[in-house]
Amino acid sequence: SESTDNETEKEEDDGVSKEEKENRLPLLKHVYLIMKICSKQWKWFLLSYGLLLVNCALNLIEPALYSQMLTNAITMKSFDILKHACFLLAAVQLAEAISSTAKTTCMSYATNKTTKQIRVNLFKAILHQDISFFDENKTGQLMSRITHDSDSISNSLPGYIETTTENLINFFGALPIMVYYSWQLSITAFITFPISLILTKIYGLYIEKLSEKANDATAISNETVQEVLAAIRTVRSFASERTEYGRYTKNTDDWFKISLKSIMASTTFGLVWYLMWNVEDVLVYLYGGYLTINGRMASENLLSYVFYHWRLHSALNSFTNMFSDLMRTIGSSRKVIYLLNRKPVLDYENGSETPEVLGTIVFDGVEFAYPTRKNVEVLKNLNLTIEKGKTVALVGPSGNGKTTIVSLIEQFYAPKSGQILLDGTNIQNIQHEYYHSKVALVAQEPTLFSGSIRDNILYGYENGSEEEMLKVAKMANVHEFVEKLEKGYDTKCGEKGIQMSGGQKQRIAIARALIRNPAILILDEATSALDSESESLVQDALNCCAKNRTVIIIAHRLSTVKNADKIAVIEKGQVTEIGTHFDLMKNIDGMYYKLVSKQLEPKKEEQKND
Ligand code: ADP
Ligand code: MG
Repeated sequence: SESTDNETEKEEDDGVSKEEKENRLPLLKHVYLIMKICSKQWKWFLLSYGLLLVNCALNLIEPALYSQMLTNAITMKSFDILKHACFLLAAVQLAEAISSTAKTTCMSYATNKTTKQIRVNLFKAILHQDISFFDENKTGQLMSRITHDSDSISNSLPGYIETTTENLINFFGALPIMVYYSWQLSITAFITFPISLILTKIYGLYIEKLSEKANDATAISNETVQEVLAAIRTVRSFASERTEYGRYTKNTDDWFKISLKSIMASTTFGLVWYLMWNVEDVLVYLYGGYLTINGRMASENLLSYVFYHWRLHSALNSFTNMFSDLMRTIGSSRKVIYLLNRKPVLDYENGSETPEVLGTIVFDGVEFAYPTRKNVEVLKNLNLTIEKGKTVALVGPSGNGKTTIVSLIEQFYAPKSGQILLDGTNIQNIQHEYYHSKVALVAQEPTLFSGSIRDNILYGYENGSEEEMLKVAKMANVHEFVEKLEKGYDTKCGEKGIQMSGGQKQRIAIARALIRNPAILILDEATSALDSESESLVQDALNCCAKNRTVIIIAHRLSTVKNADKIAVIEKGQVTEIGTHFDLMKNIDGMYYKLVSKQLEPKKEEQKND
């Protein structure tokens, strides 16, 4: 396993995962996909393009128009003509201003709309991924992809459209004219041209790689910010501010180093480029001069040739800049396109069945290893039947697979082999929303959202009525503490529920699970982290909601487990004992007996102390 560890480290250094490398698209396909994304706004792009042409035309005629009329006015000594000339000039300038600003407006509209679309689609694509994807990809980095990288696709577009047009006109206008003036001289250009294309391509590919790296570096530094801010209390209590500041400084430093490489590359490329075209220039003057001196070329033709030759240079030059910008865009859009196209391994939208649910869950020979640790078998041939309407407790030492069983019922992951059946239907075939309206989870560390208590109880059940909300709030002992709050159910819970106590959070989470009246309720150590007073309140709530539904409860407190209809001991991913409390206590060598007696011992001491 050591070698695999090393591999993952290397992958992280690269910033590109193995899976991603395998799915890397060829350049043209990639460009095509970018174009496809942008083409949704083609009307606006086209309109701004038309306005650009109008603006160019007006720009071109303005000086000619004005000088013509001014000359007229002066030669004819006519103040009227002068007035007309001024009005006309004002009108042309106004038209120019309007076309120019309208162009910018349309372009901005199109690009921002594209950005919006990419962001929304990206968020949707990321939401669609399987949970194992989130085990590997960090929140801050994904956020960076949505906010930072998605912009880079659309924001550079207007530039390309404008400069491409300009350059194409200049290039294809100048080239035939040059050949017309002297095909011999044009040969120098035809030699230099392919060389510069090759150079541009090499440079462009390098820039693409650098820009991808730069974006990865940005993503990593954003990840640091996200992680640190989310854990600010832990940072403060361990006095790690300086360390974290150092980590972020290093992250941004990495980014800066990559940018520096990019600057160096651009300087080198620019120098080589100018040198090459300078040599070509000198050749043109030498050879052109030679041809003219020998009488094989008219001197005014040489001058015109040189003029167009410059035009060609500048067209090529800005074309190169544009190409490297394009490669930069491609580099930074790699991850965006990859994420947009990634198909989740376990697609929650695959299921379509909506069978009647009574609440019997069967684990049939389930084997499972976490995708991030493929060679560690967490569940080994697990067979377990949880009958409808019964309360089943899963107990066992920590790290032996209890939460994993819950995660499989929740379909966060799929079994490697074997299947999980709900009333005879493989749970993977059941429609997603339908399934989760029947199966509800109160997790080990429930996460609340930053909205109000009401919002949190109604989460995923937004159309629920106030009566339904109040009913479950009372069942879950939420009402009891909400009544004392000034704002009642409108009290905000804070980010991740930080403004609530552990017991309050847990009870809100129970109400949230109960409101959909699930056939199956899963409680993963729902009371373990609580003090005894909150525990008994939560316990009350649980007893009250266990009626008429299947309850799967994971707990290590004897008081919680004892009254279950069935207790299953989970050891190393297998069921090693199963039965009622009474049955299991008979087996003095069993794990259950051991767990129970361990709990009773310290309690006796406590009682003595009291
Ligand atoms: P518990 O019985 O305490 O609930 P778990 O089911 O949480 O145990 O964990 C079982 C094993 O799986 C542990 O060895 C744990 O390290 C591992 N594990 C838990 N979650 C993940 C995960 N997301 N990725 C990889 N391994 C995990
Ligand atoms: Mg657990």
